[in-house]
Amino acid sequence: MNLSDINAGEKAVIVKVKGYGSFRKRIMEMGFVKGQLVEVIKKTPFRGPVEYNVMGYHVSLRPSEAHLIEVITPSIAASLPEIQYEGIIDLEKIKTSVNQHSKKISVAFVGNPNCGKTSLFNYVSGAKEHVGNYSGVTVEAKQNKYTFQGYHFELFDLPGTYSLTAYTPEELYVRKHIFHNNPDIVVNVVDASNLERNLYLTTQLIDMDIKVVIALNMYDDLENSGTLLDIKKLSKLLGIPIIPTVATKGQGINELFHKIIDVYENRDPNVRHIHINYGKEVEQSIKEIRQHIKDDKHLISAMSPRFLSVKLLEQDGHAIRFVSRHSDNKEVLKTTYKEVSRIESLFSENTEAIITDAKYGFISGALKETLKQGESKRWHYTNAIDKILTNHILGVPLFLFFMFIMFYSTFTLGSYPMDWIDMGFSYLNGLLKETLPQGMFNDLLTDGIISGVGSVLVFLPNIIILFLFISFMEDTGYMARAAFMMDKVMHKIGLHGRSFIPLIMGFGCNVPAIMATRTIRNRTDRLLTMLITPFMSCSARLPVYILFIGAFFPENPTLVLISLYLTGILLAVGTAHLFNKTLFKTKEAPFVMELPPYRIPSLKSTVKHMWDKSAQYVQKVGGVILIAVIIIWALGYFPREVIYSKDYAQQLEFIETQLHVPLDETEIAALQFQKVQIQNQMASEQLEKSWLGRIGHFIEPAIRPLGFEWRMGIALLSGTAAKEVVVSTLGVLLQTNNGESEDAQKMVESLRNLKYETGPKAGQAALTPVIALAFLIFVLIYSPCVGVISAIAKESGRWRWALFMVTYTTGIAWILSYVVYQVGSRFFV
Ligand code: GDP
Ligand code: MG
Repeated sequence: MNLSDINAGEKAVIVKVKGYGSFRKRIMEMGFVKGQLVEVIKKTPFRGPVEYNVMGYHVSLRPSEAHLIEVITPSIAASLPEIQYEGIIDLEKIKTSVNQHSKKISVAFVGNPNCGKTSLFNYVSGAKEHVGNYSGVTVEAKQNKYTFQGYHFELFDLPGTYSLTAYTPEELYVRKHIFHNNPDIVVNVVDASNLERNLYLTTQLIDMDIKVVIALNMYDDLENSGTLLDIKKLSKLLGIPIIPTVATKGQGINELFHKIIDVYENRDPNVRHIHINYGKEVEQSIKEIRQHIKDDKHLISAMSPRFLSVKLLEQDGHAIRFVSRHSDNKEVLKTTYKEVSRIESLFSENTEAIITDAKYGFISGALKETLKQGESKRWHYTNAIDKILTNHILGVPLFLFFMFIMFYSTFTLGSYPMDWIDMGFSYLNGLLKETLPQGMFNDLLTDGIISGVGSVLVFLPNIIILFLFISFMEDTGYMARAAFMMDKVMHKIGLHGRSFIPLIMGFGCNVPAIMATRTIRNRTDRLLTMLITPFMSCSARLPVYILFIGAFFPENPTLVLISLYLTGILLAVGTAHLFNKTLFKTKEAPFVMELPPYRIPSLKSTVKHMWDKSAQYVQKVGGVILIAVIIIWALGYFPREVIYSKDYAQQLEFIETQLHVPLDETEIAALQFQKVQIQNQMASEQLEKSWLGRIGHFIEPAIRPLGFEWRMGIALLSGTAAKEVVVSTLGVLLQTNNGESEDAQKMVESLRNLKYETGPKAGQAALTPVIALAFLIFVLIYSPCVGVISAIAKESGRWRWALFMVTYTTGIAWILSYVVYQVGSRFFV
């Protein structure tokens, strides 16, 4: 509860004063200190100033200031179990309660990407957030609790940033967190092996005038490299306590939290607010701007006037907007523009660069006095490894070789467990079908649910193996290099280097590929990659290609196959260009692609990462796949009361009676064959008359211009469950018994013999090479399967992207197939 929430005539006791340093100081000098009783005398309307009685004096504060004073009311104090309420609460008891309340400390971890914030956060709170040797793992704040020495900590793990300008979403996020959540302490996690770059962020925290403790992390690296750092002196120079830590081993963490408590309780002698000297001219400008800010009561409670002045001088968009929104004082911005142009004409450089230079000057000055650099072993090894892995000539071939191994393992090794899962489920299916009583429940359980679960789990080996590789590449630091090497090529199609791996994975299966886009930090790049991945022809489409190519292009199978894959790639590139020009016009600012030192990842972290991804797949994506498979099954299964054109039941019965008389082997075989044929006819007719079949007939006018027969339409519809289902559905419809592999030759025959049943072309061949090609192109491009649809929805966080993809791809598929059919049938028969 804040002082601004207290009504006139009521009393409250102060727990803590938040906000930046000199604001706190001013407020505390007025008497608003911890444990002090405050009475609200008078509130003015329209959120005007409020009059308070504190220590017998009457003072007034604006609501924005009162908002930063945390209080408790006597009634809240009474609700604490330690305090026995006996009608009147004496001040002593309230003070006990204040002490209780003031033992809650909110702590935000702020630092460069990859400096160990999450490791620290996890170590302290026992959380299991992902730690990775690459940037952009933490995209939003993670929150957790920790209790130490009777204090309750609220910890926030924030995204990694190099700076606190308003250029990237991460930077804005951290800035907003500091201003809106007002953490009591900011722990600035600093990578000890890279002090110069890391301390840049520290200089901005210094400007902000907030309570900071530095965790000098990766201190083991610093020690190993033989570097000497005078921590005490550096701490004095910065005015910020510094505690060396090794987050991965938990070293220094108790000391860190002791220090946090000391700083919070204002009892650390080293804490002081220093001013970074920006040079005479800039300081003059800061002074001018600050004068006007100080005149404006709306501005001074929000943030340190010096910080705001510096930001305004840097022409930081957010700071300018903040001032124009919250202040009527035109002088602030007027002075800013005047000073900016004065400085820029004086130095003929922009103000931001001048301020940045001064900051780096400050850092190198501080380090010159305190740091004796040794050669870091880690960088020594890293440079040696990089000489090979990112070599001009060897780099890309090596990368492609690793890609090949990853691809090969994922889909070749993965195919064994996939087969086992497949076999296991069909065995279970067969077993249940026979043992359970026949009927609808049996069919639902076996053909619906069990095969649905099977189709979810069948992807799992792929996902596990793929993420094992990806985790390993990320945790070692190789992923950053791979992205770096591919960046130039990928930029040509408006994508980022990190998009390469998901796209390659797409040739295996689009579902893990879409999940792999998580390594792309930039949101629009990530979305774009997700949206073009379905054009990568996945391996489930291959059975369809093989069947049709075998039937209609036996002379040049390779040419057709390669053309299909190339068509997919070209469409992906075209789509990327198109979307870049239309949907994603506003590109986010480019960011540094940092190359972290190579590290040997811990087995635990790699396995955990892999496990998390797999669990997420089953939880998030699995549900949708399962439901969709059951729906598609049900559409093909109902209605059950089909009026068959022939009395199949009677025919089957007739064969059964014949089988009972003694016959020789050839006669039995002939009868068995007849029986299977009748069963196939029956299944085919049932499917035709099912809902799915009716929809197939219904959409026939839409696919007629492509030359497709209605059965092909049904196959395409059921192919949205999984693309390979196109083949098995055609198998049922063409009465070649479920399209099992031993019937492949039979399917080829029946495809070649397929005839239009109705319409002007009735009786003519429904599949010519031209139509077959149009069909293959359609299968390549049209709507992704439900697994991919659900992956896009979950990963992008929006169902509308998934639906957009369904329409977009199906639209393109239709147009291209139309062109192929219409043009092709002019020239060929
Ligand atoms: P974040 O991006 O700041 O959240 O950094 P992470 O916590 O994800 O850590 C980045 C990498 O540094 C991981 O590979 C960690 O295992 C490693 N790491 C973190 N802290 C230390 C440390 O104190 N010493 C060493 N040697 N490695 C560390
Ligand atoms: Mg992190």
